[in-house]
Amino acid sequence: MPSTSNTIGLLRPRTRRALTHTATLLVLASAASIAGTARGADVQSAGDAAYPDMPRIAPIGVRIGHYLPVPQESKGPPVEPAKGYRLEQLGKGLYMITDNAYQSMFMVYETGVVVVDAPPAYAAHIVEGIREVTDKPLTHLIYSHSHVDHIAGARALGKVPIIIAHEETKHLLARAKDPNRPLPTVTFRDRYALTVGSQVLELSYHGDAHEPGNIHIYAPAQQTLMVVDMVFPGWMPWRRFAVAHDIPGYFAQVEEIRKIPFKTLVGGHVSRTGTHADVDRQIEFLGDLKSAAAKALATTKPGEALDAETARDNPWAVFDDYIDRVAIQCVNDLTPKWATKLAAYDVYVWDQCYAMEQSLRID
Ligand SMILES: [Zn+2]
Ligand SMILES: [Zn+2]
Repeated sequence: MPSTSNTIGLLRPRTRRALTHTATLLVLASAASIAGTARGADVQSAGDAAYPDMPRIAPIGVRIGHYLPVPQESKGPPVEPAKGYRLEQLGKGLYMITDNAYQSMFMVYETGVVVVDAPPAYAAHIVEGIREVTDKPLTHLIYSHSHVDHIAGARALGKVPIIIAHEETKHLLARAKDPNRPLPTVTFRDRYALTVGSQVLELSYHGDAHEPGNIHIYAPAQQTLMVVDMVFPGWMPWRRFAVAHDIPGYFAQVEEIRKIPFKTLVGGHVSRTGTHADVDRQIEFLGDLKSAAAKALATTKPGEALDAETARDNPWAVFDDYIDRVAIQCVNDLTPKWATKLAAYDVYVWDQCYAMEQSLRID
């Protein structure tokens, strides 16, 4: 496979040096253009060069010319462009609907349909998708959590009489006053079993991780668990652990997800559903990331590379330099094993290292 040999090629020291040199030139060129346009004030310089052990993965703020290829096993079935969505049946009456970037579900029962989430990205197609399967009315909408990108397509479903969410989600939505995210009509604190005809969805809350109020939606008959913005099957999590509100809580909840006896995981994102193997792989990555960041924090000396005056007068600079060097070591540690194992490793590994070192220092 050409992508494999290409990827191995990228890891060769000679190629790595060449790419590092290019990255250095880019950094220096952008610093020069800042210097060239600023007037009067003593402008910041990029120093003599980039850090000596700069990873070949482009850092935050440097434009990426060529992203690592997406591994075949991270891709899902294609979406027909003219249609804009695809349906995947997950068991009796339960369907995932997706545009291969977002995922939501609906469940058909004897006299109606329950919808779980309405991502605005394809909300206009959700009713079309349901109508491929049934003419029954939409009776319930469940919100996984409060975030705009997963539920603000609610209005496109028309009037849905019952909206169910966690009580924290209602609190956040009441504060947001967003006309595109109508308030829930039913809330719960720990557990809520929705039984409609012969179908069941078990809703439960496992504490703060991604966001207060983010719930698990489990379909026992279909052995399907939907939990959004926590596990990214085949992919690097979105930046900073998918902007987790509570990073230790996030790590703990991914472990909890591992223990649930699902067969299919709907993670709310990416192009395919997940399995326990995907959860295991993400946990392995999180463990390696935590170790790499902890080791880098322990072995990097604050202020070491700074001049004496800056080290004395500018504690923020001491941390900037320290944390940059910690992140560099963290990225360098992870790249050999993970660059080809998780799609978009190169897109977010810096963000994960920065988020991890911060959480280890302050949480
Ligand atoms: Zn979210
Ligand atoms: Zn999301």
